[in-house]
Parts: sequence; C-alpha cells; structure tokens
Amino acid sequence: MRRRPHMLDSGEFVPELARMIETQLRRRGISDAAVLAAIESVPRHEFVPKESRDRAYDDVPLPIGGGQTISQPYIVAAMTAAIHLLPGERVLEIGTGCGYQAAVLSRLAKEVFSVERRPELALSASERLARLGFSNVHVHCGDGTLGMPEFAPFDAILVAAAAPAVPEPLLAQLGEGGRMILPVGDTEHQELQLIEKRGDALRKSTLEGCRFVPLVGYHGWQEPPSR
Ligand code: SAH
Repeated sequence: MRRRPHMLDSGEFVPELARMIETQLRRRGISDAAVLAAIESVPRHEFVPKESRDRAYDDVPLPIGGGQTISQPYIVAAMTAAIHLLPGERVLEIGTGCGYQAAVLSRLAKEVFSVERRPELALSASERLARLGFSNVHVHCGDGTLGMPEFAPFDAILVAAAAPAVPEPLLAQLGEGGRMILPVGDTEHQELQLIEKRGDALRKSTLEGCRFVPLVGYHGWQEPPSR
C-alpha cells in the first residue's frame, strides 16, 4: 500500500521495521543483539527524503540528494556488527550522508564523530540528528580521508564511501585494539575490509562485496569534474 505523506507519523512504520529486522538482517546472519536493538531504535524513515519514505525499510540503498545514497539496511548492520563497539568507546565515521549510520553507531558507543564533505548534507544531517535527540553525534564538514587528528585516537572507524586504498591518516588515528571497516576497490565494486590494530601489527580480513559511492578526497578519489 502506498502511503500519503501527511499520514506519516513515527509509530506508523513499526511493522515495516520489524519485518526489515527479521527478513533482511536476522535471516542473513546478523545476530548481535546490541546491533539489532540499536537498529530497532532508529526511525530510518526520518532519514530519507519525504518522497522515498514509503520505501525507507526496503532492502535497497535510497537516494538522499546530490547523487549520494543512504546505505542498504543490511550493509549498515553488517558494518556496525563488524566493529564490535563497546558502550564507552569513541567512533569516527567518514561520510555522514543523511546521518542514519551515525545514529545507529550512537546507540552503541559513547561518542560519534562523523565527517561529511558536502556542506548541505553535513548541515541537514546535523540538524536532523539534533532534532531526533542523537546528542552524542558530532557532525563536521570536511575531507574525511584526513580523519580528525584533533579527536584521535578512535576505538573504531567506519568509512561509508568507496576508497581506492586504505587512507593512511585513518590508520594512524586508530587506537590500540582499534577496528576499522571500509569498502576498498574501484568505483563500481568494492570489498568490505576489516582492519584490527594490535600494537604495531594490523590484521586485515575481507568480508563481503558491496557498492558504495566514491570517497572523494586527498587520500581517496580525485574530485569529479564539475558539470
Ligand atoms: N553513512 C551514510 C551514507 C553515506 S553515502 C548514511 O547513513 O546515510 C557516502 C557519503 O560520503 C556521501 O554523503 C558523500 O558526500 C560522503 N563523502 C564522500 N567522500 C567523502 C570524504 N572525503 N569525506 C567525507 N565525506 C565524504
């Protein structure tokens, strides 16, 4: 059934959210109870443009403006589960977009620092997160491939855009025992890489294939030519 925008309120999507958690997350192997509870507590429909609200809980990424997307629910869950956040931890996210992933992270960690390169997205995500009460998320506008040295080290780093290679500054800003998850590959296809830092050693493992919008910045892809 198509929904008319003026009929929407936050309670209306409870069945869609429950179905999303069961069919898209649990059945595909997301079993971490804390991650599932975090996702259950974030109203995803508040993070998508009005015209896409009736598809907010579908098994797809959705456009959020400027050629960018909100990640598919399963990818948000898989990346969040991979970094095993603890309640006292501080996490850095690169690519705030609409702020949905940051909101999910904020339920599991103490503080979330999120960097977005597009000023209009940084501003709207920051306003949205404040309005919805996600007060432990700090949104900054800038090139996230440089990280946020002034707030480092981080217990975990999540990069929500496709990197050609692991940005060095992010590795340097990962604390002892820190975990980083990011999509690495070309602009069409990437693989999720999990990197764990133990002393001087980095343990890398590859999770699954994925497709993200490009990470554009000094340690990412070059700025696309303006149209
Ligand atoms: N986590 C987001 C989805 C992000 S889409 C969500 O939950 O909605 C990827 C985002 O990364 C886009 O908004 C894009 O503008 C941003 N981005 C790309 N390169 C970046 C960079 N170098 N620094 C910060 N943000 C970047």
